[in-house]
Amino acid sequence: EAKNLGHGQLRLYDHFFGESIHSRLRLTTDLRHAIERDELSVVYQPQFSAHNLKLTGVEALLRWQHPQHGFIRPDTFISLAEQQGFIREVTDYVFAKSIRELTELELLGTSIPRLSINVSALDFADDDCIELFYRRLENLHDWSLLQLELTETAVINNFEDTLRTLKMLREANVNLSIDDFGTGYSSLSILRRLPIHEVKIDRSFIRDLQVDDDDRTIVRTILAMAHSLNLRVVGEGVEQIEQLLFLQEHGCHDAQGYLLAKPMSAQELAKFLQQEPAALDEIRSQLRAKS
Ligand code: C2E
Ligand code: MG
Ligand code: MG
Ligand code: MG
Repeated sequence: EAKNLGHGQLRLYDHFFGESIHSRLRLTTDLRHAIERDELSVVYQPQFSAHNLKLTGVEALLRWQHPQHGFIRPDTFISLAEQQGFIREVTDYVFAKSIRELTELELLGTSIPRLSINVSALDFADDDCIELFYRRLENLHDWSLLQLELTETAVINNFEDTLRTLKMLREANVNLSIDDFGTGYSSLSILRRLPIHEVKIDRSFIRDLQVDDDDRTIVRTILAMAHSLNLRVVGEGVEQIEQLLFLQEHGCHDAQGYLLAKPMSAQELAKFLQQEPAALDEIRSQLRAKS
């Protein structure tokens, strides 16, 4: 779809150091060193019930503080890690770091009901990938606190192998979510074969929800499909109160986006959780006034 293609391509170029970023980074930087040099970190974006704005979980999002280029977003460097053949180390890092941070701050399993981690298609490509996942979960006492987010295309490209691994993870109580849903053209028949708990409606369908009738139709259709399969639905990229209202009215369970909370460090998250009811009171009263 043109809209999504355009969006994805734009993201590669939207850094101040210009359009050659992709090739330059590939040539000059070994991302492997970023882990050793402690240049990576994890930020967390809260997710809320669209109904009452209670916290339902957080999504871990990777950040790279590059010594020359500054702050680099993952859309650019995750694909580099995949191409350079060490996405495994990156995924290891995100699991270890996020589980450790949120456990040390005594947030996970208490004030945070669920931690979502993004995984790559390549995390499912190796024969030993299920052992890798089990090892990554060793320090987590309750595996139902964890959720994996993988994209539709990741699932579809290697369907049978990925399905087998997903089934084992589900049996181990790990939650599973399909990210960027709607961009990969999954059919209902594929969706119903997947042992998933949740779909996340892609931001590109939320963005113009107030004005675009097609997007409204798509979002309603995704919700109807998910409801019929008993899946939880999250709307991502919610920036406007009208978008939240639409999602709420059409039975979307959760919402995530800058309107409610931006991604933040673990320390900031701890603070946010202490003040959270007050931080969202304003939006709650706006919702009441409009509904
Ligand atoms: P995603 O998993 O779909 O994550 C949502 C992205 O939307 C995040 O961008 C988040 O910061 C951004 N976002 C959230 N709310 C809003 C909003 O209201 N407005 C706008 N404009 N953006 C919003 P981010 O952190 O740059 O991550 C981009 C993508 O990189 C992620 O998309 C995910 O596919 C990938 N990614 C991030 N962290 C990891 C990771 O640890 N491992 C892997 N494999 N991929 C990751
Ligand atoms: Mg995600
Ligand atoms: Mg997404
Ligand atoms: Mg995405």
